[in-house]
Amino acid sequence: MEITYLLKVGELNLKGSNLKFFEKKLRANIKKSLRGIPSELRQSQKRLILRVDESYRDQVESILSRTFGLVSFTPMVMVKKDPQCIEKAVCDLVSKLSPFELEGTFKVAARRVDKSYPQTSYEIACDLGGVILDTFPKTTVNVRNPDWTLSIEIRNEVYIYIQETKAPGGLPVGTAGRGLLLLSGGIDSPVAGYLMGKRGLKLESIYFHTYPYTSDEAKEKVVTLGKRLSPWLGGMKLHIIPFTDIQHKLAAGEHPRFSTILMRMAMMKIAEKLGEQRDLSALITGEALSQVASQTVESINCTNRSVDVPVLRPLIGMDKIEIITIARAIDTYDVSILPYDDCCSLFAPKHPVIHPKYDELAEAYEALKLGDLLDKALDARETLEL
Ligand code: ATP
Ligand code: MG
Repeated sequence: MEITYLLKVGELNLKGSNLKFFEKKLRANIKKSLRGIPSELRQSQKRLILRVDESYRDQVESILSRTFGLVSFTPMVMVKKDPQCIEKAVCDLVSKLSPFELEGTFKVAARRVDKSYPQTSYEIACDLGGVILDTFPKTTVNVRNPDWTLSIEIRNEVYIYIQETKAPGGLPVGTAGRGLLLLSGGIDSPVAGYLMGKRGLKLESIYFHTYPYTSDEAKEKVVTLGKRLSPWLGGMKLHIIPFTDIQHKLAAGEHPRFSTILMRMAMMKIAEKLGEQRDLSALITGEALSQVASQTVESINCTNRSVDVPVLRPLIGMDKIEIITIARAIDTYDVSILPYDDCCSLFAPKHPVIHPKYDELAEAYEALKLGDLLDKALDARETLEL
């Protein structure tokens, strides 16, 4: 059997050609995610209508619930604008509810978009409410806090549905350009990637791997995190950069207290170079203000000034608890807390500088003469399609 979904589109309160661009991207993203699943997607006014075979239900719903730009989706019945057809469809749909729900309360939410339809929204809601009460006498009306809502929209056709499932909202991935996520094995950076994807950025990701100081398990952990993130982003490349030679050179430098920030500057520099090659015009990190020594305003100034591209830090004003709440919701938290050390903690100095002066750091960075090593590391990258 076929199932028809009504998809509601989010924040696209845009006009003219801009709106068309966003809508087109959203349709393309959905089609791409559904590749391999026989389906038909069409747009009708501000709604999207998707038909798929019932057997793909779980897979399709999992995809829709991770599609930025959608605010909700629901299976629906579509009928013509005929009161008898509407009543029959409503009763059929309500009869599928559980006995428990049929003993609960409900309301009818009616929306008349086609103003030529003879009844007002209020009249439609009253009439259908009456039909439901007559046919299912155990249920009662509660317009303020109902257990379930029967929704009806009168458009070119009539849409009738009961349960809407929330989708993530935001803007379709790819409508805000392309960025490069610095993805570590921690809790924060996957959340940062999710939040920027939600604002429409298409992402690739980069991970700096310091083997053997960071183990293969640590790398696998980042790959797993990338795989959890990828469905939200319509797929994602992960570039793995061998970082050991650079880390050795940093560790042998003259200013152990600077080493964490110098390392972050080197990471940013490599990320910027990769961004140039791959047409990724912003870098994204999981930094939050004052969370650790390398995330003070002065430290951020140093990492910022080491590159010319914009660095987006969507978590900058968030508490750890808020970040963890999102990490749990997007299913990355349980992977992030697996106990494999990252290179930052292994090479971290005992007493890192907390309020570095940019000029001193820039001088120390120049003295390291990392240039060739950065290029070598970039060239030796391994790229995975997640
Ligand atoms: P996270 O939880 O994302 O690891 P964190 O609070 O541990 O963040 P740091 O380890 O100081 O903070 O890293 C700050 C940011 O730098 C990370 O959010 C990430 O964007 C980037 N980063 C750090 N280490 C790496 C790495 N090995 N590879 C790629 N990016 C990294
Ligand atoms: Mg970290």
